Amino acid sequence: MEYELIRTRRKTVAIHIKEGRVIVRAPMRTPVRDIERFIESKQGWIDKHLAGQLARAEKRARFELTYGGAVLFLGREYRITADHKAAAYRQAPDPANKGELPKPEKHDRAGAQLSFFEDIGMQANAAQPVEDTGMQTDAARPTEPEDCLYFPPGLDTPHLKSRLILFYKGRAREIITERIGQIAPLMGVKPAKIHIGSAKRSWGSCNAKGCLSFSWRLMMAPPDAVDYVIVHELAHLKHLDHSKAFWAVVAKVFPDWKSRRQALRQLQKKLDTEDWG
Ligand SMILES: [Zn+2]
Repeated sequence: MEYELIRTRRKTVAIHIKEGRVIVRAPMRTPVRDIERFIESKQGWIDKHLAGQLARAEKRARFELTYGGAVLFLGREYRITADHKAAAYRQAPDPANKGELPKPEKHDRAGAQLSFFEDIGMQANAAQPVEDTGMQTDAARPTEPEDCLYFPPGLDTPHLKSRLILFYKGRAREIITERIGQIAPLMGVKPAKIHIGSAKRSWGSCNAKGCLSFSWRLMMAPPDAVDYVIVHELAHLKHLDHSKAFWAVVAKVFPDWKSRRQALRQLQKKLDTEDWG
């Protein structure tokens, strides 16, 4: 079996599977025959992971967006729907308008989703009334037969994809900025800058200058998970590491942060089989 050997100062041998390749990291002086014996002992694990990666890569290559298909927004499925009437949607998005699409106001219940964000600093309980906040709850709105996102008819996968990414980016900027405005003061922190990016393997990040970045892909996650990522990155303004002190800051806001993070891991698995560019 082919593998790539990297000698490092580490003390043990480790095998990683990345993009269909087997990468072995080993201490400087471990003999090759010992390394190969170790690889042989892990052959079953290696085969299983190589097969899994291959299957995901094949699925990714077949990824399609079609009318009638569903996409996630704030943890809910929305159907991609052709809107033959709304002329606004026929216009190409104006690059000057911060990459935002006109909002599908009538049908998009995203505004109502924001009511889930009320539970900051408390145990999550989405069923609680939130009348003090002035925000609408789901119950206050008429029930829609189906959650839809509307696009001009006749778009192929690349065009639907770019439209959707613009939609996600615009909403990410709006929702994350608003949410940080609410949460940061409660935590006694203030980010220097908020950036919406396209990172594939990280939902958010924080640099030493106090600039927070979030991936637009986070807009697919449930609101509880979005809040967790925001709190995670805000906590980095206090501790730029993953020390016990850091996790204590996160846990103070969200004692249930682990289950919130679990939702992100599930979403990541799904995204590993989708090609969003
Ligand atoms: Zn972190």
